[in-house]
Amino acid sequence: MSQPAAAQGYDLVLTGGRVLDERNGIDAVTDVAISGGKIAAVGASLAAAGRVVEDVGGAIVAPGLIDIHTHVYHKATSLSVDPGFIARRSALTTMVDAGSAGAGNFDGFRDYVMQHSPYRIFAFLNVSFPGIFGFDKGVSLGEARLREMLPVDRCVAKIEANRDRIVGVKVRIGGPVTGDLGLGALEAALEAANAVDLPLMTHIGTAPPSYADVVSMLRPGDILTHCFRPEPNSALGADRRIMKEVRAARERGVLFDIAHGMGAFGYETTEQALSEGFQPDLISSDVHVIAVEGPGYDLLHTMSKLLNCGLSLPDVVGMSANRPALAMRHPELGHLGVGAPADITVLRQVDSDYVFEDVVGTTRQGSTLLQPVAVYLDGRAMEVSRRPFEEPFVLSGHASHDHR
Ligand SMILES: [Zn+2]
Repeated sequence: MSQPAAAQGYDLVLTGGRVLDERNGIDAVTDVAISGGKIAAVGASLAAAGRVVEDVGGAIVAPGLIDIHTHVYHKATSLSVDPGFIARRSALTTMVDAGSAGAGNFDGFRDYVMQHSPYRIFAFLNVSFPGIFGFDKGVSLGEARLREMLPVDRCVAKIEANRDRIVGVKVRIGGPVTGDLGLGALEAALEAANAVDLPLMTHIGTAPPSYADVVSMLRPGDILTHCFRPEPNSALGADRRIMKEVRAARERGVLFDIAHGMGAFGYETTEQALSEGFQPDLISSDVHVIAVEGPGYDLLHTMSKLLNCGLSLPDVVGMSANRPALAMRHPELGHLGVGAPADITVLRQVDSDYVFEDVVGTTRQGSTLLQPVAVYLDGRAMEVSRRPFEEPFVLSGHASHDHR
C-alpha cells in the first residue's frame, strides 16, 4: 500500500495487528510503520524495515481514540477529572471537553491544563459565562437559567481568540439547568455558533424543553449529546419508536452522540433505536467526577457496552476515532493515512462474563470487553492502565507491549 522506508528504516513498526482505519477503508491484518512522529506506511511486510518492531498479533490497531465528550478542567471545575488518568484508562490520545469552561474561565483551562498535558485537549466552549460551575456529588446548579449568564458576545470573542483549541459551542438544555429560560438558552447558543461558524453540542436533559423541540432546532453538523438517554424525554415517542423529529434531524446532518455519563445511557432506548437501524454517530463517555466511578466509567468501557449491544467492532472504533475527528473538524486526526500524526491506540478484545449496567440499573450479560494494550501519541509510547474490575483479564502471554 505504500513505499518502503529510506535506508535507515522506520522508527517503529507495529506488526500483525488487525488495522481498523475507517477513513481509509482498511480492515485488515497488516503492518503500520511510524517515522518522525508520523504514519510512514501501512501495508504488508514492513517489519524488516523497522528499527523497533512490536508484535501486536491478535490485537486491534486503531487510530488514537478521541473522547468527544469529557470534563477535564481538572481542579478548577468541580465536575472535572484528571485528563491523564482517563487517557491511560481508556487508551485515548485526544479529549474534547464539553463545556466545563465558559468565556469567563477558559484562559485558565488553556494555561493550566491544556498547556501542561501531553495529550491533545480541545473544548466546546460553554455559552454560559462561568461554564458548568456547580456540579458535584449532591450539588447541581444550573448554569443556563438566566439570559444574563449567556453573553453571546463574550463567547464569540473567546472562541475567536482560541480557535486552535476550541472546536465549537456547548449548551446544556433541560430541566433545572435551563429552568424557565428553556429554549431561550438554545437560541443564545445557536447565535454564538452561527457567529463563529462552528458546531453546537447540545445536551438534552429532562423536559421541558422536549427532546423533539430541541433536536428540531439543531443545524447540520451540530451534535445532540446524550442521544440515547432513558425516559423521561428520550428519543422514543409515545409509540415507543424513534420520533419523526429525530429521524428528520439525522437526515439534515445532525450528529447523535452517546455521552454515557451518570444519567444518559438507557438500554431500553438504545436497544429500540438499534432495532430500528438508528445507530449513534459518535460514542463518548461524558466522564466526570461521578460518572468515572461507573456505570459509564470512560470511553473504552462505553465502547465495550455498545459492542455488546450488537454494534460491529469497526463501527465502534469508527464512532470513537474517525467520526469524532470529522465532527470536531480536525480531519488530520482519527485516521492512519500516511503523513498523519502517529496517534495510535492498540486494543485487545477479550472474552468476558462482565455484567453491564445502564444509568437506571438495567443490566445486560456481556460476552466481550475491550482493553488497552498500548497508546502512541505523535509516535511516542504512552502509559496505559486498566479498570480495577478488569484485573482478571491480564494480557498474559502477549509480549508486544514492551515499550522499554
Ligand atoms: Zn457532560
